[in-house]
Amino acid sequence: MHYLVLTTGSCGNCYIITDDENTIIIDDGVTYKKLSERMEDHDIPMSSVRAMFLTHLHPDHSKGVGVFQRKTGLPVYMSDISWARNMAEIQRQRIEPALVRQYSFGEELSVPGFSVIPFRTFHDSEGSAGYLVKSGSGPSFFIMTDTGIIPDGAEELADAADVMFIESNYDEKMLDEGPYPAHLKKRIKGIYGHLSNTEAVEFASKVARRGESVYFVHVSENNNDTDILRDLAYSKIPSGIFCKICERGELFEGFIDGKEQGKGEEKGTEEGIQPQGMQEGRTI
Ligand SMILES: [Zn+2]
Ligand SMILES: [Zn+2]
Repeated sequence: MHYLVLTTGSCGNCYIITDDENTIIIDDGVTYKKLSERMEDHDIPMSSVRAMFLTHLHPDHSKGVGVFQRKTGLPVYMSDISWARNMAEIQRQRIEPALVRQYSFGEELSVPGFSVIPFRTFHDSEGSAGYLVKSGSGPSFFIMTDTGIIPDGAEELADAADVMFIESNYDEKMLDEGPYPAHLKKRIKGIYGHLSNTEAVEFASKVARRGESVYFVHVSENNNDTDILRDLAYSKIPSGIFCKICERGELFEGFIDGKEQGKGEEKGTEEGIQPQGMQEGRTI
């Protein structure tokens, strides 16, 4: 198994999970050119993609969807609430209705190679979602981004995951003292806003187990500092967990062995899921 944080942050968000035969994409806030080039650079053929899943319809997560659909003809999944409540945005972004697949929260979705459990998040884009992605070969992935609060039930889902992508948007002090107008600060901190470093790290330290990997994503450029987040994560997260703070716009690649990857086994950390080369991260 092989995965990419293809890019993350306000400039665009996109995650790829592949078992080499089947691939799924979560969010598409990038151009088709960038998506296809970065996938190709990492040996993930577009022909292996089976479906795309959207967390929500803010352009940093969905601006590439229309072109992706027209180029590939592939289905794009979103919640029935997202579909029903964001029609103007769907039209504006030129998303192809015929290729949209709607689901209800709580439904388990099957695509070749994967089953996907969507869960509700809290954000100012109605019907927003997070996902637990279970691969047929073993490992599971948890994606929770753009949510003002941790949804009920997220802990149980994350408990089943081997790799987690968790939004860690802002440092409370930097946001409070920063340049944003009051109404924007309120929105970010509100229940339909974003997760703070404290909330994200607290959640990760509760659910991550030895041998697992946690990627902190969607880090704000203006209201956060990767060093502050790194210090917090390294001081709170229990030992034996691989932690990575994802800088805005950068790509991160990880590999994970099928059934070899096991909770409570040091081995998983050493051999299975260390991202490659210069992508510095740390097993605490
Ligand atoms: Zn958003
Ligand atoms: Zn976003």
